[in-house]
Amino acid sequence: MGKSQCWTTLDNNVGGDWPHVLMVTTAGSALRRMLSAQPAGGSTAHVRCVLSTRKEEEEEEEEEEVVVLARSAMALRAVGRLARPRRALCTQSASYRSSVRSGPCDEAAELSAQSLFSRSAVGSFFQDQPLLRNPVGEDALLQSYLRRHFPSTEVKEDLSRFGERLVNEIDALGHECEEHPPRLQHFDAWGNRVDRILTSSAWTRMKEVSAEEGFVAAGYERCFGEWSRVYQMSKLYLYAPSAGLYTCPLAMTDGAAKVIESLGRSLPVDEAFQRLTSRDPKRFWTSGQWMTERKGGSDVARGTETLAFQQPDGTYRLRGFKWFTSATDADMALVLARVVDGHGQIVQGSAGLSLFYAEVRDQFGRLNGIEVKRLKEKLGTRQMPTAELLLYDLPAHLVSPEGRGVATIANMLTLTRIHNTVSAVAAMRRIIQLSRDYATKRFAFGKLLKDHPLHVQTIARMEIETRAAFLLMMEVCRLFGKEESGTASDTEVHLFRLLTTVAKLYTGKQAVAVVSEGLESFGGQGYIEDTGLPRMLRDAQVLSIWEGTTNILSLDVLRSTAKSSGHVLDSFFADVKTKMLAVNGSSALRPAVEAVNTALSCLGKFVHTAAQRPPGYMELAARDLAYSLARIYMGCLLIDHASWEGASHADAYAALRWCEQDLCPVASRDSRGIYDPNSSQMDSSLVYEGYTNN
Ligand SMILES: Cc1cc2nc3c(=O)[nH]c(=O)nc-3n(C[C@H](O)[C@H](O)[C@H](O)COP(=O)(O)OP(=O)(O)OC[C@H]3O[C@@H](n4cnc5c(N)ncnc54)[C@H](O)[C@@H]3O)c2cc1C
Repeated sequence: MGKSQCWTTLDNNVGGDWPHVLMVTTAGSALRRMLSAQPAGGSTAHVRCVLSTRKEEEEEEEEEEVVVLARSAMALRAVGRLARPRRALCTQSASYRSSVRSGPCDEAAELSAQSLFSRSAVGSFFQDQPLLRNPVGEDALLQSYLRRHFPSTEVKEDLSRFGERLVNEIDALGHECEEHPPRLQHFDAWGNRVDRILTSSAWTRMKEVSAEEGFVAAGYERCFGEWSRVYQMSKLYLYAPSAGLYTCPLAMTDGAAKVIESLGRSLPVDEAFQRLTSRDPKRFWTSGQWMTERKGGSDVARGTETLAFQQPDGTYRLRGFKWFTSATDADMALVLARVVDGHGQIVQGSAGLSLFYAEVRDQFGRLNGIEVKRLKEKLGTRQMPTAELLLYDLPAHLVSPEGRGVATIANMLTLTRIHNTVSAVAAMRRIIQLSRDYATKRFAFGKLLKDHPLHVQTIARMEIETRAAFLLMMEVCRLFGKEESGTASDTEVHLFRLLTTVAKLYTGKQAVAVVSEGLESFGGQGYIEDTGLPRMLRDAQVLSIWEGTTNILSLDVLRSTAKSSGHVLDSFFADVKTKMLAVNGSSALRPAVEAVNTALSCLGKFVHTAAQRPPGYMELAARDLAYSLARIYMGCLLIDHASWEGASHADAYAALRWCEQDLCPVASRDSRGIYDPNSSQMDSSLVYEGYTNN
């Protein structure tokens, strides 16, 4: 028996000819990536192996025996696909221990013990990593939601197929996007200014995958009628945590397609629409949204300095500086700018803003009147380029009525806020899937984490947040689909407006909290970069910032209430009451129903009295009001889902637990005088106590 420890290269040729191998130290994810890359052609990976050849003495047939020792079940399965081992051990895992105890692999175990301890000063224990399995199969709530609303199996089958593709192909691409972030090349070798944004091949592949899977197209093909958006967003919900942030360009692309569709498709934007919604990777385009400037992202009305100069042919040239432009490798962008009239005058404020369509590159692939000043150094979302752009005579077409830019881009913001919600819920779901798997593998104090009730309670609390967020996300998508297909009632249209904002602001905050708790559930490993876990927290942090911060969206809720003369809130009250009446018969859910009804009545009283309060009162209450709307509506949806005939005990438990919290913080705080005008002064003294501004 010869043994050697070496760095060896496994390549396509290994296949069935792989000799008798004892593999000891392969990291599961590296091996899986290597294997999944093989069909694409010739990728190799270095795998640290102990090679052991062994001849069976009485061997009559030319049969090879392969013994594989891998560190994780995933590695083992991956090796199994390649080498068809007849005996397999997973070192340090439960399967390894049990196989050693039951004896079929004693010889190999002895061999491994000798070789491991002789070679390693750090011992032989290696923690099994959490496994990503097909997320559809693992997601009980998604499945029951689909069972309830999509009796046809078509959607379920497509999502399950896509779930497999995620595990076997896409997730590794997502990691690659993180490992190879975009770079900006300002000059070519000969000194020419080129401003090339160089992205990874995985990022490029994500664009192709997006077209193939119809991530944007599904929303416009409307194959499932008013449920088409639910279908599209379910798929994106699965995709988001593995997408390497490609969900960001998709959100803006979807938003741009919606803007163009709502404007009526004429040249040149008709061609753009075809491309944005194409399933052909060669034709598919992505779009950016260029609004934020140095003076303001929330306040674009005062912050936008970009100017649009009309040309003799009716097109425009744009000049300005866009401070945040994400996924800047996009093919086109929708841009806010102020039209300069024949006298060189502009209109200030939002009435002066118009919306423009611009193609980012010319026919030779060169930037069209754009200088990329720099790429942002970001906390997270590093997979995706976010640039500062100087626009200098960027050719553009006016697509909104002049001065109606903000109203016209509102459709884009609706879409990007929905996508934001989807990404937030998806991040929560993914961290829970990994966390609960890890709890079945990690021992502490003599038992698995899953057998420590306090640990499981912590994950259960994350699960309740995630279920509530999931149902709100789906409700927003359902209402959106109804609105688009013209089947929404007036109440539903108002609700959709209100809930899109509420869902974005609330789930953005939940995602940061749940993902942070999720990281802690891995102990120290949750803080270690190459587990891939810290990235999830970094990426979650942006969800409450872009597409409107929490405060700005809370103020939006007030604005939409005022603008609709209170109809959005009337619709909210009517809908919650209807849903609660429908479940009144269920005694198990009664405490939850009572909690929602009480919270709703407190909210009603608050809204009624707030109307008579001094100006500024509602502004101070805005965030708590938005949170109250979110918590009450989430409670209502959890109860509604738990009262469905196919619901599980866990659904009812989640509803009951959710409704134990303060569902109407705006009323509780109001009763303590938190929004009185003098509390604002006190807030200020508290914040600025000790502050010196010399
Ligand atoms: C990674 C990343 C990518 C981005 N990509 C894009 C992009 O592609 N296109 C684009 O146009 N923009 C993009 N942005 C910009 C983003 O949309 C803005 O940063 C965001 O809207 C906030 O605007 P601001 O930075 O000007 O903050 P400010 O408006 O200065 O806000 C600062 C703080 O003040 C608070 N605040 C402001 N006004 C009020 C008020 N009236 N009452 C109470 N609180 C208030 C806000 O809530 C916030 O907490 C991106 C940002 C990031 C971080």
